Amino acid sequence: MKEEKIELIKDGKRLDGRDFEDLRPIKIEVGVLKRADGSCYFELGNNKALAAVYGPREKHPRHLQDAKTAVVTYRYNMAPFSVDDRKRPGPDRRSVEVSKVSRESLDPVILKEYYPKTAIDVYVELLQSDAGTRTAGINAASVALAAAGIPMRDLVSSVAVGKIDGEVVLDLNAVEDNHGEADMPVAMVARTDTITMLQMDGRFTKDEFERGLKLAKKACHEIYELQRTALIEKYSKSVGEGEE
Ligand code: ADP
Repeated sequence: MKEEKIELIKDGKRLDGRDFEDLRPIKIEVGVLKRADGSCYFELGNNKALAAVYGPREKHPRHLQDAKTAVVTYRYNMAPFSVDDRKRPGPDRRSVEVSKVSRESLDPVILKEYYPKTAIDVYVELLQSDAGTRTAGINAASVALAAAGIPMRDLVSSVAVGKIDGEVVLDLNAVEDNHGEADMPVAMVARTDTITMLQMDGRFTKDEFERGLKLAKKACHEIYELQRTALIEKYSKSVGEGEE
């Protein structure tokens, strides 16, 4: 969206060989951090996201407690070595925005009223970034929350759609994000088609928006199945092996 035009589609394929409606390869690993109550490693192509969940635990300082519900915090952070040019460490405007929208994308599914006065803290670290990091982070965090045993209405799944060389495509990588015409990250409860986050950078026509949203929904269903499978595999194996 920001830089000079380069050709992103050649002979009907994207530069990384994908078709328009292909996701990048996904890998999910549950329970990778022993210290956290729940954790998940989520790979989406060249994005590598790690989520750690702590809580419910007593919220400190006490004046930040909510007498009726748990308080959910979400910290999204890109490691300095996660991009080609070293990223300046620490929070910036972008990471504050991504943290906010990501927390809001998960908030509706967490049964916070079960744990008044507590904190549920979600940390997402990007070890490698290649566009779509907020979606990878939300997918990781959703699985980590479930792994922490936090009661949830359902999992949240997330993916971006965009427009490159005038075509609506799924799951933009960094080159496509930088040189494309639009990028629209979406998060949703796939089973009920309930959208919990939708952002847009660039422009879609009404028809492109509708096609993009349909693509995102289909991909979120696929991601949801992968998230569920990863959780089931982890915990059915743990019981079988006599772990906690
Ligand atoms: P998302 O990663 O959710 O798509 P953006 O569209 O803001 O979020 O960013 C797209 C990509 O741009 C990131 O995944 C990352 O590869 C790159 N990027 C973002 N911020 C920086 C930065 N400060 N330095 C270098 N690259 C960055």
